[in-house]
Amino acid sequence: MNTAIKVIHTLKAAGFEAYIVGGAVRDLLLGKTPHDVDVASSALPQQVKVLFDRTVDTGIDHGTVLVLLDGEGIEVTTFRTESSYSDNRRPDSVEFVLSLEEDLRRRDFTINAMAMTEDLKIIDPFGGKEDLKNKVIRAVGDPDERFEEDALRMLRAIRFSGQLDFIIDMKTLLSIRRHARLIRFIAVERLKSEIDKIFVNPSMQKSMAYLKDSVLTRFLPVGGLFEVDWITYHTDGNPTYGWLYLLHQQKRQFTDIKDYRFSNEEKRLIEKSLELTALNTWDQWTFYKYTLKQLEMASRVTGKKKDLAAIKRQLPIQSRSELAVDGWDLIEWSGAKSGPWLKVWIEKIERLIVYGILKNDKELIKDWFEDEYHSHT
Ligand code: ATP
Ligand code: MG
Repeated sequence: MNTAIKVIHTLKAAGFEAYIVGGAVRDLLLGKTPHDVDVASSALPQQVKVLFDRTVDTGIDHGTVLVLLDGEGIEVTTFRTESSYSDNRRPDSVEFVLSLEEDLRRRDFTINAMAMTEDLKIIDPFGGKEDLKNKVIRAVGDPDERFEEDALRMLRAIRFSGQLDFIIDMKTLLSIRRHARLIRFIAVERLKSEIDKIFVNPSMQKSMAYLKDSVLTRFLPVGGLFEVDWITYHTDGNPTYGWLYLLHQQKRQFTDIKDYRFSNEEKRLIEKSLELTALNTWDQWTFYKYTLKQLEMASRVTGKKKDLAAIKRQLPIQSRSELAVDGWDLIEWSGAKSGPWLKVWIEKIERLIVYGILKNDKELIKDWFEDEYHSHT
Protein backbone atom coordinates (compact mmCIF):
# COMPACT_ATOMS: atom_id res chain seq x y z
CA MET A 1 0.00 0.00 0.00
CA ASN A 2 2.65 2.52 1.05
CA THR A 3 4.72 1.63 -1.96
CA ALA A 4 1.74 2.13 -4.27
CA ILE A 5 1.14 5.54 -2.70
CA LYS A 6 4.79 6.46 -3.28
CA VAL A 7 4.39 5.45 -6.93
CA ILE A 8 1.28 7.62 -7.18
CA HIS A 9 3.14 10.57 -5.65
CA THR A 10 5.89 10.28 -8.23
CA LEU A 11 3.40 10.07 -11.10
CA LYS A 12 1.42 13.04 -9.82
CA ALA A 13 4.53 15.14 -9.26
CA ALA A 14 5.28 14.59 -12.95
CA GLY A 15 1.86 15.94 -13.86
CA PHE A 16 -0.07 12.69 -14.40
CA GLU A 17 -3.19 11.35 -12.77
CA ALA A 18 -2.81 8.13 -10.80
CA TYR A 19 -5.04 5.99 -8.59
CA ILE A 20 -5.15 2.66 -6.84
CA VAL A 21 -7.74 0.57 -8.68
CA GLY A 22 -9.53 -2.75 -8.85
CA GLY A 23 -9.24 -5.58 -6.36
CA ALA A 24 -7.01 -3.66 -3.95
CA VAL A 25 -9.65 -0.96 -3.38
CA ARG A 26 -12.29 -3.65 -2.88
CA ASP A 27 -10.14 -5.55 -0.38
CA LEU A 28 -9.19 -2.41 1.54
CA LEU A 29 -12.86 -1.44 1.92
CA LEU A 30 -13.55 -4.97 3.15
CA GLY A 31 -10.80 -4.56 5.74
CA LYS A 32 -8.64 -7.19 4.06
CA THR A 33 -5.00 -6.84 3.07
CA PRO A 34 -4.81 -6.81 -0.72
CA HIS A 35 -2.27 -9.27 -2.10
CA ASP A 36 -1.34 -7.03 -4.99
CA VAL A 37 -1.95 -3.37 -5.62
CA ASP A 38 -2.62 -2.04 -9.10
CA VAL A 39 -2.28 1.57 -10.13
CA ALA A 40 -4.07 3.17 -13.09
CA SER A 41 -2.59 6.32 -14.54
CA SER A 42 -2.89 8.79 -17.39
CA ALA A 43 0.85 8.29 -18.05
CA LEU A 44 1.77 6.17 -21.05
CA PRO A 45 4.07 3.18 -20.47
CA GLN A 46 7.11 5.04 -21.83
CA GLN A 47 6.36 7.97 -19.56
CA VAL A 48 6.08 5.65 -16.55
CA LYS A 49 9.39 4.03 -17.40
CA VAL A 50 11.40 7.23 -17.33
CA LEU A 51 10.08 8.11 -13.88
CA PHE A 52 11.32 4.98 -12.09
CA ASP A 53 14.75 3.40 -11.84
CA ARG A 54 13.56 -0.19 -12.08
CA THR A 55 10.69 -1.33 -14.27
CA VAL A 56 9.74 -4.49 -16.11
CA ASP A 57 7.73 -4.55 -19.35
CA THR A 58 5.21 -7.13 -18.14
CA GLY A 59 2.39 -6.17 -20.49
CA ILE A 60 3.52 -3.13 -22.33
CA ASP A 61 1.18 -3.78 -25.29
CA HIS A 62 -1.71 -3.58 -22.87
CA GLY A 63 -0.29 -0.49 -21.24
CA THR A 64 1.13 -2.20 -18.16
CA VAL A 65 4.55 -1.58 -16.65
CA LEU A 66 5.69 -3.22 -13.43
CA VAL A 67 7.45 -0.74 -11.16
CA LEU A 68 9.90 -2.26 -8.69
CA LEU A 69 10.28 -0.22 -5.55
CA ASP A 70 11.13 -1.02 -1.92
CA GLY A 71 11.13 -4.76 -2.64
CA GLU A 72 7.60 -4.63 -4.04
CA GLY A 73 6.17 -4.74 -7.55
CA ILE A 74 3.40 -2.33 -8.44
CA GLU A 75 1.66 -2.68 -11.79
CA VAL A 76 0.99 0.66 -13.38
CA THR A 77 -1.50 0.53 -16.25
CA THR A 78 -2.40 3.39 -18.53
CA PHE A 79 -6.09 4.30 -18.51
CA ARG A 80 -7.50 2.19 -21.26
CA THR A 81 -10.59 0.66 -22.74
CA GLU A 82 -10.85 -2.55 -24.68
CA SER A 83 -12.40 -1.48 -27.93
CA SER A 84 -14.19 -4.21 -29.84
CA TYR A 85 -14.51 -7.87 -29.08
CA SER A 86 -15.29 -10.03 -32.03
CA ASP A 87 -14.66 -13.38 -30.41
CA ASN A 88 -15.98 -13.14 -26.84
CA ARG A 89 -12.56 -13.61 -25.40
CA ARG A 90 -10.15 -10.80 -25.96
CA PRO A 91 -10.20 -7.26 -27.14
CA ASP A 92 -9.23 -6.75 -30.76
CA SER A 93 -7.12 -3.86 -29.57
CA VAL A 94 -6.63 -1.77 -26.48
CA GLU A 95 -7.10 1.91 -26.68
CA PHE A 96 -5.70 4.38 -24.25
CA VAL A 97 -8.28 6.79 -22.91
CA LEU A 98 -8.10 10.07 -21.09
CA SER A 99 -10.29 9.53 -18.10
CA LEU A 100 -10.29 7.30 -15.10
CA GLU A 101 -14.01 6.79 -15.45
CA GLU A 102 -13.64 5.26 -18.89
CA ASP A 103 -11.03 2.95 -17.49
CA LEU A 104 -13.29 1.88 -14.64
CA ARG A 105 -16.15 1.27 -17.06
CA ARG A 106 -14.33 -1.59 -18.79
CA ARG A 107 -13.89 -3.48 -15.52
CA ASP A 108 -16.00 -6.51 -14.77
CA PHE A 109 -17.98 -5.92 -11.57
CA THR A 110 -18.99 -2.81 -9.66
CA ILE A 111 -16.99 -3.94 -6.61
CA ASN A 112 -13.90 -4.17 -8.84
CA ALA A 113 -14.54 -0.86 -10.57
CA MET A 114 -13.60 1.59 -7.84
CA ALA A 115 -10.51 3.75 -7.54
CA MET A 116 -8.77 5.39 -4.60
CA THR A 117 -6.70 8.57 -4.50
CA GLU A 118 -3.44 8.86 -2.62
CA ASP A 119 -5.29 10.54 0.24
CA LEU A 120 -7.66 7.56 0.44
CA LYS A 121 -10.73 9.12 -1.23
CA ILE A 122 -12.88 6.56 -3.02
CA ILE A 123 -14.06 7.16 -6.58
CA ASP A 124 -17.06 4.97 -7.22
CA PRO A 125 -19.05 5.79 -10.36
CA PHE A 126 -20.97 2.46 -10.52
CA GLY A 127 -22.15 1.93 -6.97
CA GLY A 128 -19.46 -0.53 -5.94
CA LYS A 129 -19.51 0.56 -2.30
CA GLU A 130 -23.22 -0.08 -2.01
CA ASP A 131 -22.79 -3.51 -3.60
CA LEU A 132 -19.94 -4.29 -1.22
CA LYS A 133 -22.18 -3.39 1.69
CA ASN A 134 -24.97 -5.61 0.37
CA LYS A 135 -22.52 -8.35 -0.63
CA VAL A 136 -23.56 -8.39 -4.26
CA ILE A 137 -21.62 -9.11 -7.43
CA ARG A 138 -23.06 -7.02 -10.23
CA ALA A 139 -21.73 -6.44 -13.73
CA VAL A 140 -20.74 -2.90 -14.62
CA GLY A 141 -23.35 -1.61 -17.05
CA ASP A 142 -25.26 -4.07 -19.22
CA PRO A 143 -24.33 -7.63 -18.22
CA ASP A 144 -25.20 -9.06 -21.64
CA GLU A 145 -22.71 -6.75 -23.32
CA ARG A 146 -20.06 -7.42 -20.72
CA PHE A 147 -20.27 -11.20 -21.04
CA GLU A 148 -20.33 -10.97 -24.81
CA GLU A 149 -17.10 -8.94 -24.66
CA ASP A 150 -15.33 -11.44 -22.43
CA ALA A 151 -17.07 -14.63 -21.45
CA LEU A 152 -14.51 -15.41 -18.75
CA ARG A 153 -16.23 -12.76 -16.63
CA MET A 154 -19.07 -15.24 -16.04
CA LEU A 155 -16.69 -17.62 -14.33
CA ARG A 156 -15.07 -14.72 -12.48
CA ALA A 157 -18.47 -13.74 -11.05
CA ILE A 158 -18.80 -17.26 -9.75
CA ARG A 159 -15.28 -17.27 -8.39
CA PHE A 160 -15.80 -14.00 -6.52
CA SER A 161 -19.07 -15.27 -5.02
CA GLY A 162 -17.09 -17.94 -3.17
CA GLN A 163 -14.02 -15.82 -2.52
CA LEU A 164 -16.06 -13.07 -0.85
CA ASP A 165 -19.15 -15.04 0.16
CA PHE A 166 -21.32 -12.69 -1.93
CA ILE A 167 -24.44 -13.37 -3.95
CA ILE A 168 -24.64 -12.70 -7.67
CA ASP A 169 -27.16 -10.03 -8.61
CA MET A 170 -30.20 -11.61 -10.29
CA LYS A 171 -29.93 -9.70 -13.56
CA THR A 172 -26.24 -10.59 -13.80
CA LEU A 173 -26.95 -14.24 -13.01
CA LEU A 174 -29.74 -14.50 -15.58
CA SER A 175 -27.41 -13.00 -18.14
CA ILE A 176 -24.80 -15.63 -17.29
CA ARG A 177 -27.39 -18.34 -17.90
CA ARG A 178 -28.20 -16.85 -21.28
CA HIS A 179 -24.56 -16.57 -22.29
CA ALA A 180 -23.18 -19.72 -20.68
CA ARG A 181 -22.42 -21.36 -24.03
CA LEU A 182 -19.89 -18.59 -24.80
CA ILE A 183 -17.56 -20.07 -22.18
CA ARG A 184 -16.48 -22.53 -24.89
CA PHE A 185 -14.49 -19.80 -26.60
CA ILE A 186 -12.29 -19.12 -23.60
CA ALA A 187 -8.73 -20.46 -23.51
CA VAL A 188 -8.51 -23.39 -21.15
CA GLU A 189 -5.63 -21.81 -19.21
CA ARG A 190 -7.84 -18.91 -18.22
CA LEU A 191 -10.62 -21.30 -17.20
CA LYS A 192 -8.30 -23.43 -15.10
CA SER A 193 -6.86 -20.44 -13.35
CA GLU A 194 -10.35 -19.34 -12.22
CA ILE A 195 -11.37 -22.88 -11.25
CA ASP A 196 -8.17 -23.25 -9.22
CA LYS A 197 -9.12 -20.07 -7.39
CA ILE A 198 -12.62 -21.42 -6.74
CA PHE A 199 -11.10 -24.53 -5.16
CA VAL A 200 -9.22 -22.53 -2.54
CA ASN A 201 -12.11 -20.26 -1.60
CA PRO A 202 -13.54 -20.59 1.89
CA SER A 203 -17.08 -20.57 0.46
CA MET A 204 -16.38 -22.67 -2.59
CA GLN A 205 -19.67 -24.54 -2.11
CA LYS A 206 -21.40 -21.31 -3.00
CA SER A 207 -19.39 -21.03 -6.23
CA MET A 208 -20.14 -24.65 -7.07
CA ALA A 209 -23.87 -24.14 -6.55
CA TYR A 210 -23.76 -21.11 -8.85
CA LEU A 211 -21.69 -22.99 -11.39
CA LYS A 212 -24.47 -25.54 -11.72
CA ASP A 213 -27.30 -23.06 -11.46
CA SER A 214 -25.78 -20.83 -14.15
CA VAL A 215 -25.64 -23.87 -16.48
CA LEU A 216 -21.94 -23.18 -17.05
CA THR A 217 -21.27 -26.81 -16.10
CA ARG A 218 -22.97 -27.75 -19.38
CA PHE A 219 -20.43 -25.86 -21.45
CA LEU A 220 -17.16 -26.08 -19.54
CA PRO A 221 -14.82 -28.90 -20.58
CA VAL A 222 -16.06 -32.00 -18.71
CA GLY A 223 -18.30 -29.55 -16.86
CA GLY A 224 -20.62 -32.29 -15.63
CA LEU A 225 -17.81 -33.57 -13.41
CA PHE A 226 -18.09 -30.45 -11.25
CA GLU A 227 -21.59 -31.46 -10.20
CA VAL A 228 -20.56 -33.54 -7.23
CA ASP A 229 -21.41 -33.21 -3.57
CA TRP A 230 -18.93 -30.66 -2.27
CA ILE A 231 -20.31 -30.73 1.26
CA THR A 232 -17.34 -32.59 2.76
CA TYR A 233 -14.79 -30.51 0.89
CA HIS A 234 -12.48 -28.30 2.92
CA THR A 235 -9.68 -26.50 1.17
CA ASP A 236 -6.11 -26.84 2.35
CA GLY A 237 -5.11 -23.85 0.24
CA ASN A 238 -3.88 -26.07 -2.57
CA PRO A 239 -6.06 -26.05 -5.71
CA THR A 240 -4.84 -29.49 -6.79
CA TYR A 241 -6.81 -30.95 -3.92
CA GLY A 242 -10.04 -29.74 -5.54
CA TRP A 243 -9.29 -31.70 -8.69
CA LEU A 244 -8.45 -34.80 -6.67
CA TYR A 245 -11.65 -34.51 -4.64
CA LEU A 246 -13.70 -34.26 -7.81
CA LEU A 247 -12.07 -37.29 -9.45
CA HIS A 248 -12.39 -39.32 -6.27
CA GLN A 249 -16.08 -38.45 -5.87
CA GLN A 250 -16.77 -39.20 -9.51
CA LYS A 251 -14.61 -42.36 -9.51
CA ARG A 252 -12.73 -41.06 -12.52
CA GLN A 253 -9.12 -40.98 -13.65
CA PHE A 254 -6.72 -38.12 -14.28
CA THR A 255 -7.14 -38.47 -18.06
CA ASP A 256 -10.74 -37.33 -17.70
CA ILE A 257 -9.63 -33.82 -16.71
CA LYS A 258 -6.43 -33.57 -18.73
CA ASP A 259 -8.02 -31.01 -21.10
CA TYR A 260 -7.34 -28.45 -18.39
CA ARG A 261 -3.60 -28.76 -19.08
CA PHE A 262 -1.99 -29.45 -15.76
CA SER A 263 1.69 -29.01 -15.03
CA ASN A 264 3.67 -32.24 -14.73
CA GLU A 265 3.93 -31.67 -11.02
CA GLU A 266 0.17 -31.29 -10.59
CA LYS A 267 -0.49 -34.30 -12.81
CA ARG A 268 1.84 -36.49 -10.79
CA LEU A 269 0.37 -35.35 -7.48
CA ILE A 270 -3.15 -36.09 -8.66
CA GLU A 271 -2.29 -39.45 -10.21
CA LYS A 272 -0.26 -40.67 -7.25
CA SER A 273 -2.84 -39.54 -4.70
CA LEU A 274 -5.60 -41.25 -6.66
CA GLU A 275 -3.53 -44.42 -6.76
CA LEU A 276 -3.25 -44.24 -2.97
CA THR A 277 -7.00 -43.85 -2.52
CA ALA A 278 -7.44 -47.12 -4.39
CA LEU A 279 -5.14 -49.10 -2.06
CA ASN A 280 -6.89 -51.09 0.66
CA THR A 281 -4.04 -51.00 3.11
CA TRP A 282 -1.09 -48.72 3.47
CA ASP A 283 1.96 -50.51 4.82
CA GLN A 284 5.54 -49.36 5.37
CA TRP A 285 6.32 -49.76 1.69
CA THR A 286 3.43 -47.44 0.79
CA PHE A 287 4.68 -44.80 3.20
CA TYR A 288 8.14 -45.21 1.75
CA LYS A 289 7.16 -45.03 -1.92
CA TYR A 290 4.78 -42.08 -1.79
CA THR A 291 5.62 -38.52 -0.80
CA LEU A 292 4.10 -37.00 2.31
CA LYS A 293 2.10 -34.61 0.15
CA GLN A 294 0.60 -37.48 -1.85
CA LEU A 295 -0.22 -39.37 1.33
CA GLU A 296 -1.80 -36.30 2.90
CA MET A 297 -3.96 -35.51 -0.12
CA ALA A 298 -5.18 -39.08 -0.36
CA SER A 299 -5.95 -39.35 3.33
CA ARG A 300 -7.85 -36.07 3.32
CA VAL A 301 -10.02 -37.21 0.47
CA THR A 302 -10.75 -40.62 1.97
CA GLY A 303 -11.21 -39.21 5.46
CA LYS A 304 -8.52 -41.44 7.00
CA LYS A 305 -6.80 -39.29 9.56
CA LYS A 306 -3.46 -40.31 10.94
CA ASP A 307 -0.18 -38.69 11.78
CA LEU A 308 1.24 -39.50 8.39
CA ALA A 309 4.42 -37.48 8.88
CA ALA A 310 5.25 -39.42 12.05
CA ILE A 311 4.68 -42.78 10.38
CA LYS A 312 6.86 -41.75 7.50
CA ARG A 313 9.55 -40.40 9.79
CA GLN A 314 9.75 -43.68 11.68
CA LEU A 315 10.66 -45.68 8.57
CA PRO A 316 14.16 -47.18 8.80
CA ILE A 317 15.16 -45.27 5.68
CA GLN A 318 13.54 -42.47 3.70
CA SER A 319 15.06 -43.14 0.31
CA ARG A 320 17.33 -45.46 -1.58
CA SER A 321 20.25 -43.11 -1.10
CA GLU A 322 20.19 -43.93 2.63
CA LEU A 323 20.81 -47.64 2.00
CA ALA A 324 24.04 -48.76 3.67
CA VAL A 325 25.01 -50.62 0.49
CA ASP A 326 25.00 -49.85 -3.21
CA GLY A 327 25.45 -51.64 -6.50
CA TRP A 328 29.23 -51.66 -6.20
CA ASP A 329 29.04 -53.59 -2.95
CA LEU A 330 26.81 -56.22 -4.53
CA ILE A 331 29.19 -56.56 -7.50
CA GLU A 332 32.09 -57.02 -5.15
CA TRP A 333 30.33 -59.55 -2.92
CA SER A 334 28.87 -61.58 -5.80
CA GLY A 335 31.89 -61.46 -8.09
CA ALA A 336 29.38 -61.01 -10.94
CA LYS A 337 29.29 -58.35 -13.62
CA SER A 338 26.95 -55.41 -13.51
CA GLY A 339 23.54 -56.03 -15.11
CA PRO A 340 19.79 -55.90 -14.62
CA TRP A 341 20.10 -58.34 -11.68
CA LEU A 342 21.53 -55.49 -9.59
CA LYS A 343 18.34 -53.46 -9.62
CA VAL A 344 16.33 -56.52 -8.59
CA TRP A 345 18.60 -57.26 -5.66
CA ILE A 346 18.85 -53.67 -4.51
CA GLU A 347 15.07 -53.49 -4.39
CA LYS A 348 14.90 -56.78 -2.47
CA ILE A 349 17.23 -55.34 0.14
CA GLU A 350 15.37 -52.03 0.15
CA ARG A 351 12.07 -53.78 0.88
CA LEU A 352 13.49 -55.89 3.70
CA ILE A 353 14.94 -52.79 5.30
CA VAL A 354 11.79 -50.71 4.89
CA TYR A 355 9.72 -53.54 6.43
CA GLY A 356 12.20 -53.74 9.32
CA ILE A 357 13.14 -57.35 8.53
CA LEU A 358 16.75 -56.51 7.84
CA LYS A 359 18.76 -53.81 9.56
CA ASN A 360 20.34 -51.09 7.46
CA ASP A 361 23.83 -52.21 8.40
CA LYS A 362 26.45 -53.05 5.84
CA GLU A 363 27.79 -56.17 7.56
CA LEU A 364 24.34 -57.60 8.23
CA ILE A 365 23.26 -56.91 4.67
CA LYS A 366 26.42 -58.57 3.41
CA ASP A 367 25.72 -61.74 5.45
CA TRP A 368 22.16 -61.88 4.18
CA PHE A 369 23.19 -61.18 0.61
CA GLU A 370 25.92 -63.78 0.46
CA ASP A 371 23.54 -66.45 1.77
CA GLU A 372 20.66 -65.54 -0.50
CA TYR A 373 22.63 -64.75 -3.62
CA HIS A 374 24.56 -67.97 -3.60
CA SER A 375 21.48 -70.06 -2.94
CA HIS A 376 19.92 -68.43 -6.02
CA THR A 377 22.81 -69.02 -8.38
P1 ATP B 1 -7.89 -11.08 -6.81
O1 ATP B 1 -6.52 -10.57 -7.18
O2 ATP B 1 -8.25 -11.03 -5.39
O3 ATP B 1 -8.17 -12.37 -7.43
P2 ATP B 1 -8.75 -8.89 -8.42
O4 ATP B 1 -10.00 -8.11 -8.39
O5 ATP B 1 -7.47 -8.16 -8.15
O6 ATP B 1 -8.96 -10.10 -7.45
P3 ATP B 1 -7.56 -9.62 -10.90
O7 ATP B 1 -7.84 -10.77 -11.79
O8 ATP B 1 -6.22 -9.52 -10.25
O9 ATP B 1 -8.70 -9.59 -9.81
O10 ATP B 1 -7.84 -8.31 -11.76
C1 ATP B 1 -7.58 -6.99 -11.32
C2 ATP B 1 -8.69 -6.05 -11.77
O11 ATP B 1 -8.73 -5.99 -13.19
C3 ATP B 1 -10.09 -6.46 -11.34
O12 ATP B 1 -10.41 -5.99 -10.05
C4 ATP B 1 -10.95 -5.85 -12.41
O13 ATP B 1 -11.16 -4.48 -12.16
C5 ATP B 1 -10.08 -5.95 -13.65
N1 ATP B 1 -10.30 -7.19 -14.44
C6 ATP B 1 -9.61 -8.34 -14.37
N2 ATP B 1 -10.04 -9.24 -15.24
C7 ATP B 1 -11.05 -8.66 -15.90
C8 ATP B 1 -11.92 -9.07 -16.97
N3 ATP B 1 -11.83 -10.28 -17.50
N4 ATP B 1 -12.82 -8.18 -17.40
C9 ATP B 1 -12.91 -6.93 -16.87
N5 ATP B 1 -12.13 -6.50 -15.88
C10 ATP B 1 -11.22 -7.34 -15.40
MG1 MG C 1 -5.47 -9.04 -8.26
